Amino acid sequence: MLLEVSGLRAGYGPTHVLHGLDFAVEEGGVTTLLGANGAGKTTTLRAVCGMVRAEGEVSLAGQRITGLATEDIARRGVAHVPDGRGTFMELTVEENFRLGAYTRRDAEVQRDFERMWEWFPRLKQRWKQQAGTLSGGEQQMLAIARALLLRPKLLLLDEPSFGLAPLIVQDIFGILRRIRAESGVGILLVEQNANLALELADRAYLLETGRIVMSGPAAEIRQDEAIRRSYLGY
Ligand code: ATP
Repeated sequence: MLLEVSGLRAGYGPTHVLHGLDFAVEEGGVTTLLGANGAGKTTTLRAVCGMVRAEGEVSLAGQRITGLATEDIARRGVAHVPDGRGTFMELTVEENFRLGAYTRRDAEVQRDFERMWEWFPRLKQRWKQQAGTLSGGEQQMLAIARALLLRPKLLLLDEPSFGLAPLIVQDIFGILRRIRAESGVGILLVEQNANLALELADRAYLLETGRIVMSGPAAEIRQDEAIRRSYLGY
């Protein structure tokens, strides 16, 4: 397993939001967290990357990372793409790329840029453009590219489809499928569009008010009657 989480509890100040979650992401696999608004999906991603105080066991490639500072967790290979994206709006696409790779000194940075251009050709076309002037979909692409430039073992993706038109969302999920096939990075995905999330994922967990109430292979969860009715709309 790439990421193993057990008994994860987290919250904000006195408020407990997560009440002991167990879940995992396989090496190179995609795990999705489903659930209604407020179920605790975003908080789960924040707990994994150290942005909120967490208790329990979180281990990355066999090493315990619970309680470490966000920068230490990032350095060990966890990249977070928060909802609301997290790009530097005043900087150009190129400058955002360079910031994404700034911790790296290896000679492969240029090769990774080329790889990103292949996955995200629209970003190459907009290389000198200010991030703040990109379309919402392009900003989402830039945020994902920037996170991948850290060469993470695990990518935490929070609602990549948020606020985007359906065609752009299809584009982004097409790119994620490609990244999944070509990069070996593991992905923990939070996504309102359960259809797309379950198509991409191999494991899925359903959260309700900070507890996992269902889990299994994504293909099985897709067939579940209650899931279909409540989350897939058919
Ligand atoms: P959504 O899809 O609406 O983002 P979610 O499943 O991601 O939902 P969270 O954002 O993790 O849910 O929120 C879980 C609970 O934690 C909610 O009750 C929310 O009000 C609360 N919460 C989230 N962020 C904070 C915060 N910064 N301070 C206090 N409470 C928070």
